[in-house]
Amino acid sequence: MQAWRASLLWFDPHADEPHPRYEADGLLVTAAGADGVRRVVAVGAFDTLRAAYPDVPLTERRGRLIAPGFIDLHIHYPQTDVIGSPAEGLLPWLAQYTFPHESRFADPAHARAVARFFCDELLRQGVTTALTFATSHPGSVDALMAEAEARGLRCIAGKVLQDRHSPDGVRDRTEQSLRDTEALIIRWHGRARLGYAITPRFAPSCSDAQMRGAGELATRYPDVWIQSHVAENVDEVRWVRELYPHDRSYLAVYERFGLLRERAVYAHGIYLDADDQRALAQSGAAIAVSPTSNLFLGSGFFDYATARAGGVRLGLASDVGGGMSFSPFATMRAAYTVGRAAVRGDGRPKTGVSLSPFDLWWQHTAGAARALGLGGVVGSLAPGSEADFVVLDPAATPLLARRTAQAESLAEWLFALIMLADDRAVTEVVVAQGAGTQIFTGGASAVHAGPPPLR
Ligand SMILES: [Zn+2]
Repeated sequence: MQAWRASLLWFDPHADEPHPRYEADGLLVTAAGADGVRRVVAVGAFDTLRAAYPDVPLTERRGRLIAPGFIDLHIHYPQTDVIGSPAEGLLPWLAQYTFPHESRFADPAHARAVARFFCDELLRQGVTTALTFATSHPGSVDALMAEAEARGLRCIAGKVLQDRHSPDGVRDRTEQSLRDTEALIIRWHGRARLGYAITPRFAPSCSDAQMRGAGELATRYPDVWIQSHVAENVDEVRWVRELYPHDRSYLAVYERFGLLRERAVYAHGIYLDADDQRALAQSGAAIAVSPTSNLFLGSGFFDYATARAGGVRLGLASDVGGGMSFSPFATMRAAYTVGRAAVRGDGRPKTGVSLSPFDLWWQHTAGAARALGLGGVVGSLAPGSEADFVVLDPAATPLLARRTAQAESLAEWLFALIMLADDRAVTEVVVAQGAGTQIFTGGASAVHAGPPPLR
């Protein structure tokens, strides 16, 4: 067993909305199970809990915040080197940067090298669970899974399906792509902390036969994930309407092929109507809100008010390399900005909302876990959940120290972290399996003498 003393933030794992819990002087007790995975045994106030676990070795982190490891609900590991590549919107960006980069993943050595950097970077930023695209090359999945397993990272990934409207080097062949997908499911899904996601790139890149095959695999393997993109950009939506004139909407294409169900996660979802939202809510499929990517590519502003009113499950995602940062803090602050906007991006009005810091944090942890069907497994730090967590330094930069010191409530303090923190605030990351604690050099300040003066 291990025990950590710090300020603690955790969440009700099964709620459909944020129910944060907080202890200014808290104790987190973890223990490894027979499967080698460390789980939370107890979490609560230090004063009352320490008596129940008097002999458990204690790691003192008073003055720092322990919170659930972040969950990135949509990212592309092969686009690590595409980050920061400007273009005239989504479709030109794919053609100019993304496809040429992804074609290089035919080389296993290249895939391994990028996978290594990607996994290290996720952990360095405090991300302990990620749902990520690979490329169309099966070896790109093998490379990533091996690196994720070595680090104890909870990684869900899949080979991209794209048998049309794709250039040489990334386009796959229909029958072979489906055989490869099934072989990868058998090889990786459920091994250690790894999971497989059936990954049609997006409706324009997949033939009917490939979509049908993907849907059949999704039925045959119901606990495998599905990931794709939907309704990101007005030009893309128009293209889908031309390609699928008989489908009611972009989302309806996926629905027709059996790709809308629990454990299906669609990135973006900016241009959805009330019927789409109903279909998402009823199927249990989720939207990965990707605000830095939407801002970078000029795609539009996600409409939180109607998605929430429609009961759509959602969580936050970086969408690197369209996204601008691996940092969950960058994603949370962009989500706040996108939420405030009063238009969608196609000229239609939406209601601007001020997302609370608890809501933003929840969307990147327990809410994202719910979207993945992993509520109570990761993202909450409630007893029984896997012990993935971050240790954050609220005084990591001079401005962060100055601003958090003046916060008069927990909400104000967390909001300041969201607006001002980056990887420098992530001083340690602990994953539930494998090597355990990773200590980073970030966080210049000394550990404080006591917890932040917050209730
Ligand atoms: Zn994406």
